[in-house]
Amino acid sequence: MMSANPESTRTARVLVVEDEPKLASLLMDYLRAAGFEASWIADGAAVIDQVRSQQPDLVLLDLMLPGRDGLSLCRELRTFSDMPVIMLTARVEEADRLDGLESGADDYICKTPFSPREVIARVRTILRRVQVQNDRQQDRLSAQSPIRMDVEAYRAYYKGALLPLTPVEFRLLRVLLSAPGHVFTRDQLLARLHDDPRSVNDRAVDSHIKNLRRKLEAVDASADLIRSVYGVGFRLELSGRG
Ligand code: CA
Repeated sequence: MMSANPESTRTARVLVVEDEPKLASLLMDYLRAAGFEASWIADGAAVIDQVRSQQPDLVLLDLMLPGRDGLSLCRELRTFSDMPVIMLTARVEEADRLDGLESGADDYICKTPFSPREVIARVRTILRRVQVQNDRQQDRLSAQSPIRMDVEAYRAYYKGALLPLTPVEFRLLRVLLSAPGHVFTRDQLLARLHDDPRSVNDRAVDSHIKNLRRKLEAVDASADLIRSVYGVGFRLELSGRG
């Protein structure tokens, strides 16, 4: 029953990277009116840090930026994330040129003439596409997993037994299960567990992990699904004894 993604129940976050304040504020207004959570930065040099800490669902990235150009930013984003990127270009020729380059962007929008409605439509289309891909991946994973998550009911089962999880533990398990074998850092986990990660100490992750392990072991004492990776973070292992 893992067809829905719990992240679909929260507001999608869009990061706008644009150095023209008028355009940026217009985009922000439209995004918020369309129900998105939007934030804005103008400085290209701040983008990577911002993306890492904020983990937006989509980035609207201007091509020509002070500090750093959008193309090199997009390439760097692609080294650690597959979040969708829509590139904003000033002229149609720039978009043509981008097509020939391996930028890694998912889409391009030309700013002349600028249509915020068009931007919103593309943002929606891409987020929907990503959601469908995620759901399919979740379905594949849940078919082989001893863990089953009913996202709508906020219930998780291990080997058929209902786990008495807190909402935070549920989200933690859901994140780990989204990519078995992948090592998540404490910061990445924190960013996904709490709406405002700054309000929580990153050691809190360790105590949630400890509680989650204890609850899994209560079902099967040999459960060893959540592995610590020294100095890095945690990963979920489904292929082992667990
Ligand atoms: Ca610009």
